[in-house]
Amino acid sequence: MATVYLNGQFLPDTQALISPLDRGFTYGDGVYEVIRAYNGKPFLPDEHFGRLADCCAKMRIGAYLSPLHEVPARLLEANGLTGDALIYLQITRGTAPRSHVFPPPETHPTVFGLAWQFNPNPAWAQGMTTILEPDVRWSRCDIKVTSLIPNSFSAQRAKELGAHEGLFVRDGVVQEATLSNFFAVFGGEVRTAPLSNYILPGITRAVVLDLCREHGIPCRETPVFATELHQAEEAFLTSTVYDVASIKSVEGRPLPAEHPVTDRIVALFREVVRRECW
Ligand code: PLP
Repeated sequence: MATVYLNGQFLPDTQALISPLDRGFTYGDGVYEVIRAYNGKPFLPDEHFGRLADCCAKMRIGAYLSPLHEVPARLLEANGLTGDALIYLQITRGTAPRSHVFPPPETHPTVFGLAWQFNPNPAWAQGMTTILEPDVRWSRCDIKVTSLIPNSFSAQRAKELGAHEGLFVRDGVVQEATLSNFFAVFGGEVRTAPLSNYILPGITRAVVLDLCREHGIPCRETPVFATELHQAEEAFLTSTVYDVASIKSVEGRPLPAEHPVTDRIVALFREVVRRECW
C-alpha cells in the first residue's frame, strides 16, 4: 500500500477516492508532471513546478500551486523512497456535471500525487531503438496534458515492433518522441527541434542545451528532418525518465556505434545530478 496525496491530504492509496464525474475521467481534462528523484531528493523541482504553473495557465485551470511544492519530498519520505524514484503530480479541472463548457469558476481542481521506486530499464544504457511515427497529436503539444492517446498508441506500436521509442514526425520534422525530446548530431553540431506548439519544453532538454552552451559543444535549435537521419553521426533522447539516452537505431537502421558527443553530454548531465542531489 502506498501513501498518496489527494486534495491537501496524504493518505493510503486505497482511501484516495475521486468522483467519476471528475473532468480528468470524463474529458482527460488535466495536466501532469513527472519529477525524478535521485538519492531520495527531487531533481530540479522548481523547473517542474514552473512548467506545471505554465500548463495550468495555458489550460485556464486555476490551481493554487504553492502548497504543492512540499508534496514531492513528503511523498518520498512517507513511502520510504531513499534512492531513485519518480513522483507523479496531476491536476484536473475538478468534478462537475458533464458538459463541454468549463465548470463554474468556484469548482476546485483535483490534485493528485504519487511516488514510486524507479528502476531504469538496463537495456536503455545499451542504446535506444526507435521507429518513426506520424505525429497525429493535437497542435498544443507544449502543454503537458493527461490526454496521451497518440503517445500511448505510438509507444505501444514501438513495443510491438521490438523498439523502445517512437519518434513523432510532423511536416517531415522529427519533433520529439512519445515521452522524450529528440536530438541528433551532424558534423559535430547538436541539433533539436525549436520550441513551438509541437513539442513539450522538456526540462532535461533545457539542461542539455545549457550544458552544451556552457561547455562549448556546438548546438542549435533547428528542425531535424526525417530524411536527414541517415546522415546523423549520433542521436539521443532526453527526458526525466531516460536522462540522456543514446539512440542506436532508427527504423532498424543502425547509427554509428561510437557517440562521443552524447557520451560527453551524459557525463556532464551526471555531474548536474550529483551537484543537485548528493
Ligand atoms: N516530450 C514528451 C512528449 C514528454 O512526454 C516528455 C516527458 O514526459 C518529454 C518530452 C521530456 O520532458 P522532460 O525532460 O521534462 O521529462
